[in-house]
Amino acid sequence: MRPYRFLFDECVRDAAEYFPKARVISRANIKLKDGASDEAVVEAAYKAEAIIVTANGKDFIRIMDRFLKKQMVKFCRDLNGLVVIPNPIQQHVLRRAAERMTFDGEKITWYDVWRRDLYVKISPQGIPRVVRFRRCYYCEKHEST
Ligand SMILES: [Zn+2]
Repeated sequence: MRPYRFLFDECVRDAAEYFPKARVISRANIKLKDGASDEAVVEAAYKAEAIIVTANGKDFIRIMDRFLKKQMVKFCRDLNGLVVIPNPIQQHVLRRAAERMTFDGEKITWYDVWRRDLYVKISPQGIPRVVRFRRCYYCEKHEST
């Protein structure tokens, strides 16, 4: 099993302490500067194969969707999931949400979010809503042939 990891958007960096330390990517380690654009965060998450965590779901969904649609003929641009949390979030709210995540009627974990490129939106009450991102241009093309 490959290790999944989380990349935190600046606005929610305080929430990183509620996630397993070994799974949190340091922005400094991947040379992601403060004030980096959302596009740069998505690009960095793609390279690091990381789940993006943010409070700013709307912008990230739009940027990730555009990233996946880009017409790359030679390789896959699938991403590794997006988690949108309330800001600030309490630890017990996050834990409750993580325990309640389901997709296609099955209980899922962060590993599934990462592996299947899922979008998880956590409500202030800790209710998760889970949907799947589209496949990238390359994969869509190869699945239909
Ligand atoms: Zn792909």
